[in-house]
This record gives sequence, structure tokens and C-alpha cells, in this order.
Amino acid sequence: MRRAAQAEGIERLGELVANAARVTAFTGAGISTESGIPDFRSPGGLWTRMKPIPFQDYVASRDVRREYWERRFAAPDQIGPAEPNAGHRALAKLHETRLLGAVVTQNIDGLHQKAGVPDSDVIELHGTFAYCTCLRCGRRYENDDVRARFLATREPPDCEACGGIVKAATISFGQAMPEAPMERAREESLACDLFLAIGSSLVVFPAAGFPLLARKNGATLVILNREETEMDAAADLVINAEIGPVLAAIAGVN
Ligand code: NAD
Repeated sequence: MRRAAQAEGIERLGELVANAARVTAFTGAGISTESGIPDFRSPGGLWTRMKPIPFQDYVASRDVRREYWERRFAAPDQIGPAEPNAGHRALAKLHETRLLGAVVTQNIDGLHQKAGVPDSDVIELHGTFAYCTCLRCGRRYENDDVRARFLATREPPDCEACGGIVKAATISFGQAMPEAPMERAREESLACDLFLAIGSSLVVFPAAGFPLLARKNGATLVILNREETEMDAAADLVINAEIGPVLAAIAGVN
């Protein structure tokens, strides 16, 4: 591992990007904090204020589901109105030049797409907050409709077609990972010669296995994060800095 002073690290990252044949970016909640969406594990992050509900509990108990929707609709919507920041815009620019093949993201906020990376090249490992689905038949429900139904009845929504449980289209703790995005993330991890892990504490597996897979396959691994991560020792370059300004400098955006 090579921990670099910030300025030296940014310069070295610029060289790595300039000399790369294909880049894969892997993003976590840290890339979206500059857009006003709190991450999980930073001080004051969501984890410290509101523990996530495990999938098994959500499925097993109507009371737990009621509590989920109560919490969700009582809190202001931080994701819907959020706009991409310089970090998202920088990755979109690198994708435009075709240097960046895809963004593998743990995020559910849709900000890479809002910044201009096409849906087809944003691999959402943990699903999306943009809508809900029925766990049994897969029918899609729009957030606004679910909200209206819940506020009218205070009952957790069931599927109108099959009676199944309706849930945000995110992957909760304990829920099976989606197969197609996992496979595509594997391919992108193996296809790159430069892998950028950005704004993730790299503790949530299996997602956090992709940086290691890329590194084992011979790619250069760079970790850009405000604080240390558990994988720093495996990286070729670690930059501890704010994401937006660093990526903006690399991609020439503001
Ligand atoms: P995490 O909260 O575990 O880690 C985020 C990391 O980013 C932290 O180490 C923090 O120090 C760093 N960070 C925060 N802001 C930064 C900045 N501006 N510059 C540099 N570093 C910064 O997040 P994770 O690893 O993505 O895991 C959390 C899980 O929670 C994910 O699986 C994700 O699905 C979910 N989540 C998503 C969102 C979102 O979609 N925006 C938000 C919260 C949680």
C-alpha cells in the first residue's frame, strides 16, 4: 500500500487515469454526501441514527413493515430532490470519453444516471430507491402511489395483483444480491486495468469483494476516501481527501 500526501496522490491518480486503457469505478455512499445524502458510517451518518431493517424482519412482520413506512414517510425525502455533485459529474465525463466502462455502485440514489452515465452502464448492486416492487410477482409501484396509499390507510402496502409484500426496490441487509448486476460487476472488475474505489468504507460484502477481485486480476487499485478503509493495505494508492474536488481535478470538471 502506498498512502500518499493529498497533492502527490492527486497527481499520481491523474497519471494513472491518463495511462489506463479501461477504468472501472466502484462507488459507495461517500460520493453522495456532497449532494446532501448522509452516508451510513460517518459520524452522524444514518447508521448512528436509524438502524436499517433486515430483510427477514421486514418479510416476517406486518408491524415491522408498518414501522418502515411510518419512518420513511415521516422523514423528509433526502434522495428524490438531490442533485449530482462534482464527483458524479467527473465520472460521467470519464464515461463520455469511453475511458470509464461502467460504474459499479452500492448507492441507491440514482445520481450517477442523473449526472449522465446511461442506465446501462450503472450497475446497481443494492438496487434503487426510485420505486418499489412486489417481492412475489415483481410488479412495479411508484413511490408517490405507495406514499398516498400508506398515508390514507396507515397499513403497509400489499400488491394489488397478487397480494405479495411491496418493498422499496433496494437490497436490504440479509436479502439475496441481484444476479445480473453481480455478474456484470464481476465482468467489469476483470475487464479494467485501473479500479477506483470511491467513498466506500468497503465493509459491506459481497460488494466490497470487487476491488479485491480487480486487484488480484492485475488491475491497479486506488482507494479515494475521507478516512481509512479496511482495504487500504491491498491498494496501490490511497488518497484520503474529499471526493468531489479530487475527481473534478482529474476529469477537468467543476
Ligand atoms: P459507508 O457509509 O459505509 O461509507 C462511506 C465512506 O465514505 C466512509 O468511509 C466516509 O468516510 C466516506 N466519505 C463520506 N463522505 C465523503 C466525502 N465527501 N469524501 C470522501 N469520503 C467520504 O457507505 P458504503 O460503503 O457505501 O456502505 C453503505 C451501504 O448503505 C451501501 O450498501 C449503500 O447501499 C447504502 N447507502 C446508500 C446511500 C446512497 O445511495 N447515497 C446512502 C447511505 C447508505
